[in-house]
Amino acid sequence: MYNDDLIRLLESGRKVIGCFPLYPPLELFDAMGLAPVVLWRFPEPMPETPASDSHLQNYACSVARRLTDFILSDAGGAIDGVFMYNACDTLRNLPEILEHGTRAAGRPLPVHRVHMPMVGCGQEQDVDTAGFIADEFAGLIQALETTYGVVFSAERFEKSIRRFETIRDLCRQLDMAAAQGRIPFADFVRVVHRTWWMSAAAQVDFLTGVLAETREVSPEPVTRKITGRVLLSGILPPPVPVIEAIEGAGLAIAGNDIATLYRAYAKMPAPAADPGRYYHQFYREHFPCPTLLYTADERFDTLLDLIRRRGASGVIFAGEKFCEYEYFEYPYLENRLKAEGIHTLRLEIAMADASISALRTRIEAFAEMVGG
Ligand code: SF4
Repeated sequence: MYNDDLIRLLESGRKVIGCFPLYPPLELFDAMGLAPVVLWRFPEPMPETPASDSHLQNYACSVARRLTDFILSDAGGAIDGVFMYNACDTLRNLPEILEHGTRAAGRPLPVHRVHMPMVGCGQEQDVDTAGFIADEFAGLIQALETTYGVVFSAERFEKSIRRFETIRDLCRQLDMAAAQGRIPFADFVRVVHRTWWMSAAAQVDFLTGVLAETREVSPEPVTRKITGRVLLSGILPPPVPVIEAIEGAGLAIAGNDIATLYRAYAKMPAPAADPGRYYHQFYREHFPCPTLLYTADERFDTLLDLIRRRGASGVIFAGEKFCEYEYFEYPYLENRLKAEGIHTLRLEIAMADASISALRTRIEAFAEMVGG
């Protein structure tokens, strides 16, 4: 039922906290001797979600359906608690379902929540959220101490922040290796996604090892003809056959604006001993994402800057079906990018999408446009 990474995590003796996407406070859980895992995707493939389907409508996104299925099925016995913040409306509706479902299964799960104020950073709208966030995190720490018998230490917190700085830095270096063709993009995705089920220390060792291997590969060993460079954007990267179709059409993936990848490791604030202060900065200064509503004003300029820095002339939006946050934003981004001479292609990725051949034709036509 569990892969080797999860077995190792369970054997570490740490309580496992299943964190709802998108950007949970991993440093805090790690510092308190807990093992956070972000419930994006799971140790084993999940083409179907029977345990979720009796609770959740089939027009919810695949992230929510897989997360629910994992926790409600026997596999969810690996989790000792759940953490969530108000990342999106779909996720916001899940805690009651999970609390009820796990209680009915005889293994009730503690659910820990913080509320993130989604207010604007513009001058007129700017309000003091620091005190509110500090209170939310003080409450979370107290709940974790009571529930799991762990203790917060400012010293361990700063140490953990530094460990995650290293992890994110290694991810950025691998990101660049993928952009230079020193590691295939699909392999890069597999590597980063595998770390979600590892302890922080194991992530550092694993990423360091993979990076060392990529350094032995000379840049741009690609023999195929490249006709254009594109950026991939979305919540999740598209499935491997779609990535292969993009590269097979002659496009090089020069970078990404994907929530599980670049948006998650692009940047983090300077270490601080106080979790309230640290997470105020962490969320305020986060790389823009449509789920962080207050980053909306910076979203286009940041994306365009990334496109320019990577020398891309096109963006492929891999739209997670039923994710209204991404879909509301697409028309705006597409219009603005078009005005800048950047080509765009929007693909819809569904939970059990078998229609890669239909996407392939559109990708090939897009590649001609980007290369033309
Ligand atoms: S894909 Fe969209 S709707 Fe689904 S969990 Fe992520 S942000 Fe929410």
